[in-house]
Amino acid sequence: MKVSIIGAGMGGLSAGIALKRLGYEVKVFEKVEAIRPVGAAISLWPNGVKCLNYLGLAEQVAALGGRMDHMAYVDGASGRTMTRFSLQPLVEQAGQRPYPVARAGLQDMLMRAFGPEDIALGMPLVGVEDGASAVTAVFANGQTVASDVLIGADGTHSVVRGHVLGHQPERRYAGYVNWNGLVEIDTAIAPADQWTTFVGEGKRVSVMPVAGNRFYFFFDVPLPKGQANERATYKAILREHFRGWAAPVQTLIERIDENGTNRVEIHDIEPFDTWTRGRVALLGDAAHSTTPDIGQGGCAAMEDAVVLAIALQTNTLGVEDALRRYAQRRVQRASDLVLRARKRCDVTHGKDPAVTQAWYDELWQEDGSNIIRGIYANVQGNPLD
Ligand code: FAD
Repeated sequence: MKVSIIGAGMGGLSAGIALKRLGYEVKVFEKVEAIRPVGAAISLWPNGVKCLNYLGLAEQVAALGGRMDHMAYVDGASGRTMTRFSLQPLVEQAGQRPYPVARAGLQDMLMRAFGPEDIALGMPLVGVEDGASAVTAVFANGQTVASDVLIGADGTHSVVRGHVLGHQPERRYAGYVNWNGLVEIDTAIAPADQWTTFVGEGKRVSVMPVAGNRFYFFFDVPLPKGQANERATYKAILREHFRGWAAPVQTLIERIDENGTNRVEIHDIEPFDTWTRGRVALLGDAAHSTTPDIGQGGCAAMEDAVVLAIALQTNTLGVEDALRRYAQRRVQRASDLVLRARKRCDVTHGKDPAVTQAWYDELWQEDGSNIIRGIYANVQGNPLD
């Protein structure tokens, strides 16, 4: 069976690896000539890590992962710890450590595991023609490729989504801007084995360890959409937004390399339940575009990849039936994650300041059990539970 995957992000490549392992002839077509992920790193929660383990990448992902043993919330203004606790109960409950990983390392690992020789770069898809016996991908350069199945893993601005739905749903601005990047670990900022988050005024500053003695950092600030985005101003803007915050936050701002920092206006898409059309299926952000507030977008894309492979392997009534069964298994879970992230986003970023203040008050009382319960609720229900 021939499979065309559109998009060489973490979803498309995970699906590619899973389907190649079943013996399918898989090609990935990627729009850009050189892949530069939009963020510096991501947290892979136990559900995402288990999917990579399932794809035979357990050792590689563990080598990329930072050692994140503890979690803490810190009051941004005073620098006082609100709560600090071990993540071991989560590891034991889920049966797997979470791993924060640099995106470049993750991308490289997935491309190598899939096989770079089967990735066609500089191939923007512009159209899909679905037929009874094959589906045809149409590329901007006029080239066409026919296959038995086409997977749209082309991210939040998906072209394939437009074909599947017959229209393009609007992306919804979530109300905040995220700056993210990598810095060398410095315990003047936070302990090296801890996911530390400074909170206040609906803003957030977070650091977590990734391999190579680096912290993945991000700053969230509620802001209107469409403000100027000039790299050379990032530090000055962050100094302004975090004026008066505790010393570790100021230290972090001074350490930032503006050239390696990303600025993202955070969006999601209202969940929808049509993920397939004939021989075409959506996967990853193309199917369920989420805010990053529970760190599950990429993990969910990896879950999609595993379920897609199982559906194609185990169903014998034809690919259209197998794709429908894949979607049936995924739509509810992925939609729940999008809506849970949206809810978390609103609490974290001061949509209703009274609700956000109540959350800060709770953090001072927290012993970790409620937060771990919340994280586990996101992990639970994954295909490899
Ligand atoms: P993408 O990674 O977007 O890849 C899509 C690929 O398709 C791209 O390479 C693109 O160039 C290509 N493409 C697009 N259009 C075309 C076309 N027409 N033709 C051919 N190719 C095309 N997730 C987590 O699990 N944990 C986290 O901690 C986390 N943190 C995040 C932090 C931020 C700031 C953001 C923005 C997201 C975060 N996410 C996180 C979400 C995660 O990044 C996404 O869910 C994930 O990248 C989705 O993977 P994907 O393969 O579906 O899409």
